[in-house]
Amino acid sequence: PVIVATSRNPATGELIATYPFQTPAEVERLLQDNASAQRLWRATPMAQRVAAYRRLSATLRERAGELAALITAEMGKTIGAARAEVEKCAATLDWIADQGPAILADEPVAIEGSADQVHVSYLSIGSVLAVMPWNFPLWQVIRASGPVMLSGNGFILKHAPNVMGSAYALQGAYEAAGFPKGLFVNLNAGNDTVAGVIEDPRVAAVTLTGSMRAGAAVASLAGRALKKSLLELGGADAFIVLADANIDLAVKAAVEARFQNAGQVCLAAKRFIVERPVAEEFTRKFVEAARRVRAGDPLDPSSTIGPMARADLRDELHRQVERTIAAGATLLLGGEKLDGPGNYYAPTVLADVAPGMAAFDEETFGPVAAITVADDAEHALELANASDYGLGGSLWTGDVARAQRIARRFETGGVFINGFPASNARIPVGGVKKSGYGRELSHFGLREFTNAQAVWAR
Ligand code: NDP
Repeated sequence: PVIVATSRNPATGELIATYPFQTPAEVERLLQDNASAQRLWRATPMAQRVAAYRRLSATLRERAGELAALITAEMGKTIGAARAEVEKCAATLDWIADQGPAILADEPVAIEGSADQVHVSYLSIGSVLAVMPWNFPLWQVIRASGPVMLSGNGFILKHAPNVMGSAYALQGAYEAAGFPKGLFVNLNAGNDTVAGVIEDPRVAAVTLTGSMRAGAAVASLAGRALKKSLLELGGADAFIVLADANIDLAVKAAVEARFQNAGQVCLAAKRFIVERPVAEEFTRKFVEAARRVRAGDPLDPSSTIGPMARADLRDELHRQVERTIAAGATLLLGGEKLDGPGNYYAPTVLADVAPGMAAFDEETFGPVAAITVADDAEHALELANASDYGLGGSLWTGDVARAQRIARRFETGGVFINGFPASNARIPVGGVKKSGYGRELSHFGLREFTNAQAVWAR
């Protein structure tokens, strides 16, 4: 069995560090400390919690250079993207510090014809265990911890083993910002230990971002222990281009939406569904633009994307491409692993992709775009909804009012019209169908792991 988390540079294959799993005694100690820190934190006045949030965002900005370098070394995104990730974390913490207290304030309830005093309080529930993935080593965590902790909850991070350095760096930032020691704590352990932690009475709930397989495993354990869970399980987002769209703008956005972070984004556009009259033009321009996406050293500013985070994930992606081609799709660009020590994969475009093919039915977590032609807008929506997933989607058209009507029938947690999905502190992020349940960020995220306590005084 694996007993150590290993962080390896995906651009070079070099070993960065190993982190031996915590011993059972260390895990017990961590849970104890976390529980006492949480009792202290929930009794801390909101103004002081907010001050800690502001110190944390300042700490992240002060340390942006070293944190970005660590992110890039551990999972391979370009250094520019890593810096942007750190800044997004800081900005989100600022937004929560600004808006969170009002969102969590007691909410009066008017009872018609009565003078009774009724309100709802949003109280902490304890500590939340967060099982997190490697694609945004800091952002995925802050997206969970930022909203969850303001109400007075503790946070136990079980990060992906290949980004354990980032996990410890984030714990260090929380400590430096003056959060109670042990309140935000890193659990470095295997899945058996995680199963025990889910059952532990000191853990109140679980949040997970990752694959369906991981989500189903963790949510079953939580269900058995009668604990709430939130799942964010990725997607196969549709990017619909209607005949009246501005094709040049759509192409520009499509390339960014698909290839950002080397395609390893839950909210990335994965299936490009294009109305027939503009299919030829869109495809030609998209391939031209994708040809200019340069996969190379993530520290070199001229690289558009870096390597994929792990060799096994690149192998899996390549098998998806091969299966899709074998099922009848046309390879227009890429379709191969790039030579050399890093886990580079060529920016890839597949056309004639249809339901039943891997690149249509499954999540492709890498730089692979799948193009499908639709007969009309109705058919495009039908194809978009013909997916197990339902995270985000985009719709390109010159008729925004029509798109807003179509949006209501788009089976996703988010729809972006003439834009592409991106998380933002002010709006909820989450999915329907097998993309998961629950919402992060915005007022939904801040209240997701609280006890909405009704208080009725006669
Ligand atoms: P996983 O979902 O397996 O890993 C995500 C996290 O879940 C890791 O911390 C992992 O830890 C943990 N995990 C997995 N299984 C269990 C379990 N049974 N009990 C407790 N924790 C568990 O993702 P992979 O990295 O293997 O990527 C596979 C695919 O998942 C990708 O190709 C992509 O399709 C999807 N994915 C989606 C993401 C998203 O943003 N929604 C992010 C990452 C991946 P450990 O590795 O120790 O098992």
